[in-house]
Amino acid sequence: MSQARVSDRVHVRAPGKVNVFFEVGEVQSDGYHDVASAYQAVSVYEDLWATPSDDFTIAVSGTVDVSGVPLDGRNLAVRAARLLAEEIGWDGGVHLEIRKAVPVAGGMGGGSADAAAALVACDVLWDAGLSSADLQRLAARLGADVPFAVLGGTAVGTGRGDQLSPALARGRFDWVLVTSTDGMSTPDVFDELDRQRAQDTVDIAPARRQPTVAPAVLHALRAGDAGMLAAAVRNDLQAATLGLRPELAELIDLGERSGALAGMVSGSGPTLAFLVADEESALDLQVTMSAAGFAALHVHGPVAGARIIPD
Ligand code: ATP
Repeated sequence: MSQARVSDRVHVRAPGKVNVFFEVGEVQSDGYHDVASAYQAVSVYEDLWATPSDDFTIAVSGTVDVSGVPLDGRNLAVRAARLLAEEIGWDGGVHLEIRKAVPVAGGMGGGSADAAAALVACDVLWDAGLSSADLQRLAARLGADVPFAVLGGTAVGTGRGDQLSPALARGRFDWVLVTSTDGMSTPDVFDELDRQRAQDTVDIAPARRQPTVAPAVLHALRAGDAGMLAAAVRNDLQAATLGLRPELAELIDLGERSGALAGMVSGSGPTLAFLVADEESALDLQVTMSAAGFAALHVHGPVAGARIIPD
C-alpha cells in the first residue's frame, strides 16, 4: 500500500471496563481458561493520538503511574499498529502518543483499551477502511479484552472472553473504583485460582465445563436496576485476588458498610469496583474511601467503545 498521507493526526478515546460477572471454566490443555464475562465500559478513558512516522514509536503519559508500561514492541498499542500494518500491507510506521487514565495492571483493561484505540486510529490514519468485523477479528488476536474495548457499551464475552455479543442495558450504573498503585499480573491471579481449585479450598466455585453469564445479571442490566445487579454480580477471580492481597477484603467490607450496593474485585484486580445507587451515594463513598487513605474514582457506565474524537 502507498504511504500517501490521508490524515495528519488522529485522536481516539477508548474506555476502561469493569466485569460485572466473570465465571472461569476449567483450565484447558494450552493453559488458558474458557470464561463467561459480562463487561461494562466505564467513563475512565485512554486517549491516543496517531501521527505518521516511518517507524513504530510510542510515548506514554497519564494521570496514573505509567512506569510499568513498556515503550517498545511489547506495548499492546504498538503490537496493534503493527498487526494492522501487516494485515493491510502498509510499509510505513506510526507514532502513538497515549495519555492513560486507566490504572496500569489494575484489572480494568487499560492496555486493551490502548490496543483498541491504536487499531481504530491507524485504520483512519492509513485509510484502511476495515469493517467492524475485520477490526474485531484483529482485536481478538491481540488479547481477550481488546474486542470489548473496540465495541464498548455492555456485552457478554465467552470463549477466551473474545466471542462477544452486545447486551441490552438500560439507564446508567454508577460505580466507585478504588484503585491501588501496586498492580497485579493477570496470569498470576489465574494461577492462584487453579491452585485454590486444586486444593478444593472452601468458598471457591468449582469450574464448570461451559461457563455462562447468569440470567439474573442480564435481567438486571436490561432493567437498569442497580439493586438487582448488585445481588447478581460475581467474579470467580475474586477469591484468588484476595488470596494474593488479603487486605483488599477489608476494603470491600468497608465499602459495603459505607453504602455500596455491592463491592467486588474488578477483573483480576487489584482495582475494586463498588456499585452504588446514584451519584450522591457515589460521592459519600468517595469521601469515606479518601478519608481512609484510598484513591476513589466515580465513574458511570455503559459508555461507547473506541471512537474518533474530532480535535
Ligand atoms: P487485563 O485486565 O486486560 O488483563 P489489566 O487492566 O490488569 O489487564 P493493563 O494495564 O492492561 O492491565 O496491563 C497489564 C500489563 O501489560 C502491564 O503490566 C504492562 O506490562 C503490559 N502492557 C503492555 N502494553 C500496555 C499498555 N499500552 N498499557 C498498559 N500496560 C501495558
